Amino acid sequence: DSDAAHRREQGIHMGQHIQIQNFIDGAMVPPCNGNYMDNIEPATGRVYGQVPDSDAHDIGAAVTAAQRAFPAWSATPVEQRARLLERVADLLESRLEAFAKAESRDQGKPVALAKMVDIPRAVSNFRYFAGAIRHHEESATHMDGKALNYTVRKPVGVAGLISPWNLPLYLLTWKIAPALATGNTCVAKPSEMTSMTAWLLAEVLQEAGIPPGVCNLVFGTGPKAGAALVGHPEVPLISFTGGTETARRIIRDSADGFKKLSLELGGKNAYIVYADADLDQCLPTTLRAAFTNQGEVCLCGSRLFVERPIYERFLERFTPMVEAMVVGDPTQPETNMGALISQAHLKKVRGYIALAREEGGTVHCGGTRPDLPSHLDGGYYLRPTIVTGLTPTCRVMQEEIFGPVVTITPFDSEEEVIAFANGTRYGLSATIWTRDVSRAHRTAHAMDAGIIWVNTWMLRDLRTPFGGMKASGVGREGGAHSIDFYTESQNVCIQF
Ligand code: NAD
Repeated sequence: DSDAAHRREQGIHMGQHIQIQNFIDGAMVPPCNGNYMDNIEPATGRVYGQVPDSDAHDIGAAVTAAQRAFPAWSATPVEQRARLLERVADLLESRLEAFAKAESRDQGKPVALAKMVDIPRAVSNFRYFAGAIRHHEESATHMDGKALNYTVRKPVGVAGLISPWNLPLYLLTWKIAPALATGNTCVAKPSEMTSMTAWLLAEVLQEAGIPPGVCNLVFGTGPKAGAALVGHPEVPLISFTGGTETARRIIRDSADGFKKLSLELGGKNAYIVYADADLDQCLPTTLRAAFTNQGEVCLCGSRLFVERPIYERFLERFTPMVEAMVVGDPTQPETNMGALISQAHLKKVRGYIALAREEGGTVHCGGTRPDLPSHLDGGYYLRPTIVTGLTPTCRVMQEEIFGPVVTITPFDSEEEVIAFANGTRYGLSATIWTRDVSRAHRTAHAMDAGIIWVNTWMLRDLRTPFGGMKASGVGREGGAHSIDFYTESQNVCIQF
C-alpha cells in the first residue's frame, strides 16, 4: 500500500534504521536463517540498516514461487504485461526524488546524478521493454511452395538475475524489465552492498499489480545467495552483470545445468583523442567519461590516449577541470563526486595509485582525500586522479581499477593507438575523438570492443546491442538482443 511505502521512503531520509526484507511470492519475508548484515552508508561509513544474509533456503522458496507464477504470467496477453510494466514505470517516475535519495545514500553517488541518470534510466527500462514486446514480430519462411517454417519465441521459465553495486536499480531493471516483458518470472539478487532501491522497487511492483511470485527479490551475498541461484536446477537462465572473475565462477557453477548465460563484465576502456578533436566538446565529455559515479562505471574511459601534438595542451586544459571537481557530500547539489562504495574498495583503488608510482608513473593530480566536514569523516572519499608516464603494458593500465583514476598516455600514430587500445584482455567500450570521418570509421572498425562512441560518450539507445568482447562479456542485451536472450526460439516446419 502506498502509505506504507511512503512511510518507508520517509524513514530512509529521516535517518531511521532500516531492516530490508526479502520479497518472495508478493510478500516481505525475513531470511529463513534470521541472519542480517550491516548496511553501510558510504558517505559517512556508518551503519544505517540491515540487509538479509539469505541462503539456499530463501533462493529455493523464491524459485518455487516463481515457478508457480510462471504458467499464468507467461499466458498473460502481451498487451496486459506491457501495461503492467508501464504502470511500474509510472509509479517509479512519480517517486523519482525518493528513489534518487535512497540510491545515493545506499551507494555514495551524488543525489543529482541518481536523479538525472539512475532512476530515469530504470523508468526507461520498464517503458522501453513494454513497448518492445508490443511491437516484436517474427517472420515465416516459405520453402519453394512445399512447406512453411514459422518461428515462435517462448519464455525460458524462471530467470536468475544478478546485478552489481555501481548502478544498482539501473542495471537490475535492465534485466527485470525484459525478463518479465517476454513472459518469464524471475528471482533477482542485487549486490549485497546496494539492496535498498531494489527493496523499494518491490513495493512499486506490488502497487502496480504485478502478480505475486512473478518477480522475487532475494538479498544476500554472492557466494551464498548468488551461488545458490546460479546452481538451482529449476533456473535455466542467468543474466549476470559484475566482475570478470565472478563470471568465471558462474560459468563453472552453471555448466551442469546447460544454462543460458548473459555476462556483462568489466572493462578497461580506451578513450582516444586525435589531434584534430574539437577540444571544447571533448574535454567536458572526457571529465564525465573518467569520473561519473566516482569512476565506478563499467564503461568509464579509464585509459586516455592523446595524440602527441596536443598532449601538453590537453593536460593543461584538462587538469584544472579535474582539480575543480567538487568531491564530498552526495546530498549537496554542487557535488560532482560522492563516496566510493566501501572501505575495501577505497583501499583497492588507493593501492593502484601506489602501484602507479612503483611502476614509474606520476600522480599528476588527485590521489588524496579531500578536506571535508567532520560528519563525513568516516566516508570513503578520493579526489579524482590523473596518472601519467606509464607504459600501456603495466598493471595499472591493464587491470580494472573501477574508481576515479585515469591514465593519460601520448601516442604518435593511428596504428600505435589501435595497438594500445586493443592491448588488454578486456573489450567493453572504446571512445574516439576526431573530426576526420574516415579515421573515425577506420579506428572504430579496428577496435576489439562491443560498444564504440565517436565524439561522445555513454550516449545510449536501448534498441542497440550492449555488451563486451573478450573478458568483458558473453552475449549482448538491448532491444531485440534482450528479447532473444530471454526467450527460446522454436521453429515449426509444416509441409503442404
Ligand atoms: P561482483 O562480480 O563482485 O558482484 C556482482 C554480483 O554478483 C553481486 O550481486 C554479487 O553478490 C554476485 N556474486 C558474487 N559472487 C557470486 C557467485 N559466486 N555466484 C553468484 N553471484 C555472485 O561485481 P561488483 O564488484 O558488484 O561490480 C563491479 C564489477 O561489475 C566491475 O568489474 C564492473 O566493470 C562490472 N560491471 C559491468 C557492467 C557491464 O554492463 N559490462 C556494468 C556494471 C558493472
